Amino acid sequence: MRLEDFIARYSFLDERKAQRFIEFLNGDWKSCTKKMENFFSTFGKEGVMVGVLKKLCGSIEDGWLIPWIEKFNLNSKVPIPGDLHVHSNWSDGMDDIETIVRRAIGIGFKYIAITDHTLLNKGRVQMDVEKFFKRNEKIDEIQSRYKGIKILKGVEIDVNEDGSLDYPDDVLKECDFVIGAVHFDYGRGDEFRLHLMEMIAMNENVDGICHPLDGFKKVDDETMDRILDISERYSKPLELNLFPSRLSQNLLLVRSSRGRRVKFYFGTDSHSVKHLEFIFFSKMLDVEFLEIEPQLKRK
Ligand SMILES: [Zn+2]
Ligand SMILES: [Zn+2]
Repeated sequence: MRLEDFIARYSFLDERKAQRFIEFLNGDWKSCTKKMENFFSTFGKEGVMVGVLKKLCGSIEDGWLIPWIEKFNLNSKVPIPGDLHVHSNWSDGMDDIETIVRRAIGIGFKYIAITDHTLLNKGRVQMDVEKFFKRNEKIDEIQSRYKGIKILKGVEIDVNEDGSLDYPDDVLKECDFVIGAVHFDYGRGDEFRLHLMEMIAMNENVDGICHPLDGFKKVDDETMDRILDISERYSKPLELNLFPSRLSQNLLLVRSSRGRRVKFYFGTDSHSVKHLEFIFFSKMLDVEFLEIEPQLKRK
């Protein structure tokens, strides 16, 4: 697609903005703040950028980002060697694990964590313990046929109102990568949400806290400090979630964490193989990402 066609298609972008968007995707993001601030001075507030991305994501059906990068001769080398937050059709993802693995290899990933939802609470069970073990057998079988990628047996674990996690510890120990999510505050508000986040972080089997800013009614400096405190206190990395609707959260997290010992990992939160390409949005953020090697300790 030529730049003119692109502009015609996305009429909300004038030539200067379209050019900047391309530079943004192709950038060498050594200085996160400066580049991001330049970006926002072009595109307006963070919410506007999310709107732009949503529009892009909603407008091109299948695997839009890489073809688009290739058409503009942008750098299509994958910026991060793996994706640590992916859903398969063993929970609410659309695709089976083998389809995901093939696409992940195509993108250039060296590892991928299949982190299906548990969601045993709220009557929306997605993967109970029995199903979890069946899925893992399937992963072993697929892994035996694909040598170029490490498939991590992961789970996106939910926390119950009493602070317990959806799976018992001896089951969580069977995982290669566990991310914990507070999807519900049980109608009890932000303070309780922070408490639940701490309950997740305290569990020694949890490797990271996913979409940490989701669900808060108010994210002010104090809330942010308390989230970062939890991450530091229990040495649990926070997720930089690359789903377009959450990109602005990442900027906030990275900015607020300056001078702290908070670590991050990247995940696309893919619910379809199309979403794996969101890994390219990691180029927006210049942070040290969590290397996967420590997570292979259970092997
Ligand atoms: Zn989630
Ligand atoms: Zn998820």
